Amino acid sequence: MPREKSEAVILKTFNWAESSRTVVILSRDFGKMPLIDKGGRSITSRRGRLIRFARLEIGFHYSEKTERGYINDVELLEMFSFERDGTLGRLAYGSAACELLYLLLPEEESHPILYDYLVNFLRNIDLCDKHYLPALFITYFLRLLSQLGYHPSLAYCINCGRETDLDSPSDSPICFSPERGGVVCPACQRSGEYYIPLSAESYRVLSRLQTASLTEAATVPIGYQEASLLIDALTRFLSYQSGLVSGLKSLEFLEKLRNSHLTLEKDSR
Ligand SMILES: [Zn+2]
Repeated sequence: MPREKSEAVILKTFNWAESSRTVVILSRDFGKMPLIDKGGRSITSRRGRLIRFARLEIGFHYSEKTERGYINDVELLEMFSFERDGTLGRLAYGSAACELLYLLLPEEESHPILYDYLVNFLRNIDLCDKHYLPALFITYFLRLLSQLGYHPSLAYCINCGRETDLDSPSDSPICFSPERGGVVCPACQRSGEYYIPLSAESYRVLSRLQTASLTEAATVPIGYQEASLLIDALTRFLSYQSGLVSGLKSLEFLEKLRNSHLTLEKDSR
């Protein structure tokens, strides 16, 4: 039974017995992997706690007999408490970030870049002013898509390659096609095709965030409506491009976000 150790963040947990559960982690060294936590939920367990939204060092062993990994010990390295103003929004964005990785990453393929990016994202949404949460999440979402090979084409028409023209005609929106995978110029649009219309302002924000660092994103304020539209556009894009139509709980997420936003509004009054 080889023993291993890796730094990791919890992506999802499934409870299946009073004191046991399966914990899906993203480990820095081994990628996404399900581990069995036997007896870890028991209050008499002496092992370190498995905390969501934290950097943990997890020791585990792999059983050849059951072909499963089992958690041995847990050490807390860094915790993201999300205690600052806007906790619900921080939780909603943090959960969505973990859920995207849970859904999209293949098992046991190491992605240290994405691991470090997730940790950096969680650290940012723990500490930033709540008004910058949407921009941080959209930037994270865009980076994740690109890292996994689903890069939405924003600067150029996905069909003919013409550069996106922001100047004319002045009032017409920029058409984003989740199905085709990016912006479609007026000449290439087909009647009856589904487009998400982006205002010039929304388009500019999305383009800017596509190349922004998390530090830069933490200076871009985006209102709730605009954020919802952009997240919805990216979620639909991902559904079409990855075929994960039913897996993404985007609507639930947007609903959660709406509720947390209402709370945020109330808080700031
Ligand atoms: Zn075109």
